[in-house]
Amino acid sequence: MAFEDAAVPDPRRGSGSASLVPAQVSGAALRATAEPVIRTEDLTRVYKMGEVEVRALDGVSLSVEPGEFVAVMGSSGSGKSTFMNIVGCLDRPTAGRYFLDGVDVSGLDRDQRAEIRNGKIGFVFQSFNLLSRTTALENVELPLIYAADGHVTKDREERARRCLATVGLEGREKHLPSQLSGGQQQRVAIARALINDPALMLADEPTGNLDTKTSEEVMTVFQRLNDEGKTVVLITHEHDIAEYAKRVVVFRDGRIVEDRASSQRRAAAVNGRAGK
Ligand code: ADP
Ligand code: MG
Repeated sequence: MAFEDAAVPDPRRGSGSASLVPAQVSGAALRATAEPVIRTEDLTRVYKMGEVEVRALDGVSLSVEPGEFVAVMGSSGSGKSTFMNIVGCLDRPTAGRYFLDGVDVSGLDRDQRAEIRNGKIGFVFQSFNLLSRTTALENVELPLIYAADGHVTKDREERARRCLATVGLEGREKHLPSQLSGGQQQRVAIARALINDPALMLADEPTGNLDTKTSEEVMTVFQRLNDEGKTVVLITHEHDIAEYAKRVVVFRDGRIVEDRASSQRRAAAVNGRAGK
């Protein structure tokens, strides 16, 4: 599976094909060295259900650079979750390649994917997936407990506290999920996703269970994290929510049919609700 590096006359001898990106593709290409956080090439995923084959992804090529905030849109069944599962290293493509933070992960087995996933990706889901009898602080600490790579309890707790503060939940450390609003619960989930300082925040319909005002509260948090440099990819079927992102990618029938800058970017983090 090695690259044909000999064919690339790059004196710096980089880690692959970064220098082959045509300069006209995007402004990002000019930022010479940084690898895209996500780069897929002709990604295909076919589900086989007995005799029936569903081509859920049909040749998806997409790059996401560090610091981008991308909304993935499309109607139900268009392939958004399938794409998210592969990008999140939860699933493997049937064909095509996927580079995460410069590493070809398309061929990795289950254990290798789990390892890279835990280190590089923070997930946020529609249903917050918090443990109900567990405090906000402990919920945020959980990924570190599972990682069990020698984090001292005190250090773990300190990091979890900082992540909760980042999402505006200072003072709620001892609350159980049932003692928090939906928006606050989702913010705990975002704090949990931040605990390993991931290269990529990946959210699948994070506002799907929330009302409009609470959705705005949660999108404010994502926007602020992005302003601070986090790369965010968020799946939604709501246009209002997509407009918080900087870039909108639209799926239809397993293909990208649109890829554009956000048209009227909503700046919740900067302006709050002023003027609305
Ligand atoms: P979206 O998230 O945009 O609603 P999905 O990625 O969930 O779309 O689904 C894309 C297509 O793949 C749909 O036709 C769906 O029925 C099918 N599909 C998704 N997951 C599976 C699966 N595990 N087995 C079989 N078909 C699936
Ligand atoms: Mg879905």
